Amino acid sequence: MTPAPMALPQAAETILARLRDAGYSAYIVGGSVRDSLRGVLPHDYDMTTDATPEEMHEVFRDYRLIDTGIRHGTVAVMMNREQYEITTFRVDGDYLDCRHPDSVSFTRSLREDLARRDFTMNAIAYSPEDGYQDPFGGIMDIERGIIRAVGDPETRFREDALRILRALRFSATLGFEIEEETARAASHTRELIKNVSRERIRDELMKLLAGEHCIEVLRRFPDILATVIPALAPLYDCPQNSLYHLYPVWEHTLRVVEGLANQPPLLRLVGLLHDVGKPACRTTDAKGKDHFKGHPEVSAEIVEGVMRDLRFDNKNRETAVLLTRIHDLRIPPREADVLRLLSEIGYENFLLWNDLQRADNNAHDPSNPVIIRGKQNIAAIRRLGEELQSRGACYRLTDLALTGKDILAETCLTGKAVGEALGLLLGAVMDGRVTNTREALLLYLRTEILPTLS
Ligand code: ATP
Ligand code: MG
Repeated sequence: MTPAPMALPQAAETILARLRDAGYSAYIVGGSVRDSLRGVLPHDYDMTTDATPEEMHEVFRDYRLIDTGIRHGTVAVMMNREQYEITTFRVDGDYLDCRHPDSVSFTRSLREDLARRDFTMNAIAYSPEDGYQDPFGGIMDIERGIIRAVGDPETRFREDALRILRALRFSATLGFEIEEETARAASHTRELIKNVSRERIRDELMKLLAGEHCIEVLRRFPDILATVIPALAPLYDCPQNSLYHLYPVWEHTLRVVEGLANQPPLLRLVGLLHDVGKPACRTTDAKGKDHFKGHPEVSAEIVEGVMRDLRFDNKNRETAVLLTRIHDLRIPPREADVLRLLSEIGYENFLLWNDLQRADNNAHDPSNPVIIRGKQNIAAIRRLGEELQSRGACYRLTDLALTGKDILAETCLTGKAVGEALGLLLGAVMDGRVTNTREALLLYLRTEILPTLS
């Protein structure tokens, strides 16, 4: 059955019509055609045409154009304050580095342009006049939920190994199956991913982790995952014979990631990595029970390396390392302890830590009394943290009703001693020894702190 015509924004219709009226062919192509066929509203509308960039400049001479990727034939037209990318039909030259074509050349053939695209679902063109142009059976693959390489999968992955990760990412986000031959070729050529820039790998990995169906993909392609994060490989066959656990380490890990659905991809990544230190820390006692003493610290060190390797920025790297290091931290569900933790890691990290602990705990043996108590504590700690935060509890230096400037003005302290005094004041407020008002803090400073500092 032919699918219904694609609903297009007015601006896209205008662009297509303009090119047509000037004697060129022009189509919507790629992700937006795929998404609209899936019944999902596209997030942008890429177009393809046989007009060259110079010819596009001529056709749209009264519009603002941006040469976003002139070398690859891409020009963006600004219409209704939105940017529409139009790319000249092209064929890619040889790929010498498994990632970038050596050269690109323009063609007047739509079919040739569609043939260079990665998957059949992404190789469909549409125009109001000609309807769907689907030389590789993409519509049927979308109906069946299948990701299939255009042409010979192994050749296509050898040309550009990023496509391997794109296949996994689309499978994770769309919930589509990777067709068997395509999947086999992806595993077979996986080592070529090492030729892809770490930044691109990271971006695909994060999109994959954000996917609703990411667990199925992680479960199905551990070999490909290990080429991206080699530190994961030892987890795959690491036993976990423990009173608290039902599953070996890798299965436990997958369940933690699963429990972090709808959480930021960074937290899912931490879930994936939180136990990477376990294989190196594993010892088995006389009763055959496994122990993993010190694994959070070892995991944190490995995570540091993984985050650096994938070129994460400092903030994300530090967050991931911190959360890994404290993933097993136990504190009593008491206000004073929660306040102290808030002071050490901040509210944002506290929430992430608590979500991680909940998912981690849920992936243990749910019938074990220690795990049951853990679950209650984790929930109680969450409530306390939220309460303290909404009450505006004082746990950071900036929460104090007294600033460093005040101390400089009101006392004879200078330099490092000011910071020291502020730290002591914060500790006193958090312990309830003094209330957080300017007067009370000054009095406390003069009577309790100054004598100890001088
Ligand atoms: P998204 O929803 O993520 O934007 P998309 O399919 O639009 O999905 P883009 O990365 O925006 O993906 O690429 C646009 C189109 O360009 C794809 O649909 C595909 O036809 C083609 N394409 C992108 N990357 C590649 C690649 N590495 N190899 C071959 N074709 C590609
Ligand atoms: Mg796109």
